[in-house]
Amino acid sequence: MISPRKLLGLTALIGAARAASLSEYCTPAFAASVLPVQDLGLGVTIDVSSVSAILTSNKSVSSEWFGTTAIDYCNITFAYSHDGIANDIVHVSYLVPPPDKFLNRYVSTGGGGLAINSGLSFSPVGIISGAVSGITDGGFGNFNTQYDKVFLLANNTVNWQATYMFGYEAHHELATLGKQFTRNLFNISDGEKIYSYYQGCSEGGREGWSQIQRFADQFDGLVTGAPAFRFSHLQTNHLSGAVIEKAIGYFPPPCELEKIANLTIAACDGLDGKVDGVVARSDLCKLNFDYNSTIGQPYYCAASNGPSLRRRQFPGSSPTPEQNGTITAEGVAVASAFTNGLIDSKGKRIYINPQPGSSFTDATTQFNENTGEWGPNLSGLGPQWITRYLYLQQKDSLDNLENVTADTLRDWMALGMQKYQDSLQTTWPDLNPFKAAGGKVIHVHGEADSSIPAGSSIHYYDSVRNTMYDDLNYEESISAMDDFYRLYIVPGGSHCGSNQNQPGGGWPATTLQAVIEWAENGVTPDTLDNTGDIDVLCKWPLRPLWSGNGTHFDCVYDSRSTESWTYTFDAFKYPVY
Ligand code: CA
Repeated sequence: MISPRKLLGLTALIGAARAASLSEYCTPAFAASVLPVQDLGLGVTIDVSSVSAILTSNKSVSSEWFGTTAIDYCNITFAYSHDGIANDIVHVSYLVPPPDKFLNRYVSTGGGGLAINSGLSFSPVGIISGAVSGITDGGFGNFNTQYDKVFLLANNTVNWQATYMFGYEAHHELATLGKQFTRNLFNISDGEKIYSYYQGCSEGGREGWSQIQRFADQFDGLVTGAPAFRFSHLQTNHLSGAVIEKAIGYFPPPCELEKIANLTIAACDGLDGKVDGVVARSDLCKLNFDYNSTIGQPYYCAASNGPSLRRRQFPGSSPTPEQNGTITAEGVAVASAFTNGLIDSKGKRIYINPQPGSSFTDATTQFNENTGEWGPNLSGLGPQWITRYLYLQQKDSLDNLENVTADTLRDWMALGMQKYQDSLQTTWPDLNPFKAAGGKVIHVHGEADSSIPAGSSIHYYDSVRNTMYDDLNYEESISAMDDFYRLYIVPGGSHCGSNQNQPGGGWPATTLQAVIEWAENGVTPDTLDNTGDIDVLCKWPLRPLWSGNGTHFDCVYDSRSTESWTYTFDAFKYPVY
């Protein structure tokens, strides 16, 4: 129940009205009376006439990130503009819980792909947690308009305002306004604490890190999943499969690679001690499994007229023919080189790819109906990154891979790293200010993520550890990290969710609750609860090993495994965090 003190305050704010229920809050007039018009140092002006308030009752929501439930909320939206910029409108939306469910919390959620919000895919987590729950449109037009639509003003002219908004500024403003709005809405005095949180995955994970790295006291706790940080490397690397296939001279039918992935799962399943359909130790798979053992195995996939690929990088669909054959030595050569990751012409490491047992998404070829042959996929986030974001042309696909080698990808990664170092790259490794402010972060990543390699998260964790604690030994540095930053690799997990190829792996569905418990009550999350057959998730660098008993896995330290997840990107002459 709302406290009498709060009720008195609200009464004062809105005159005679007594707002004890959501419907009484949920009017444009009331919302307009409590807008965060205080000077928050943002240099923005709120358009008071833009306020809307829409009540939603008993809305059924479901996600692997917060479970399934029904919620009541008021969606309050308003617009603001940056002082000094003409024709600038940013929309924000705050879902407000019923007064008796409000627990002095604010939550922001983030986007995916090139979207800065995920709408109701993530925002209900705030309502479920007793928080006001905010999303932004970044100033890109409306809540459904993505950053790529506004990135170029014309060929060769970058919309830097939109880029910095997407990079980090929109989320800074969303949370700063959201916290004050929450305070005004529930009439909470300046001396009383409002806890603030964040949850997002993929691009949303990157957005969370953009705040941790720049605004130390923005959030008390964050959950960041499979972050799309090291942005230039990540996006360029989506072309790694095609470039490796071109170098080998073989573009395998997708069905062949799918069969190799399935055989890998079958062969490596038991390395974690339990045959349960989940490769909980892809590191042991990497160390022990030989793709050559799959040569000659038959594969078959029926013809398809629908989308051949589910990933959001390839929104288009093209028909594929029946695929019927046996796994070839060339197919295995592609799989091996792809899993090893990009290496330049001098033998130096450029980047990494997903763990064995993951789908070969970034190596997926495209069928050419005219030639009847499989060839490189030249559309999606990777090619778009090159044409639009590096060469600044209003074009989203490459014409061909002529003269494109691993060295070219290395140089493109460097070009993008330089160009977007302070906006999109998002790998600043010194988190001392965040730690000093008392912030806590739970970082999760699916072990079989085929879109963003799990090793990407481990590399960043190690970059932070090595930057902040280079004076400590390994064990001491892990212990120091545990105070504020914990990383969990989800066995068999896919990109931001459970994996249909390894369904028993599940997903952690209570991560926001875990970080709230950590921030508010000091309950340290030594493991995370998991919806899958494996009962708990191990905190990095501990790895799961079946205990011999039911679904219980022990979390063990194995230096050889840890070493297999450790990378030096020595193709670059400077640190790549
Ligand atoms: Ca297993």
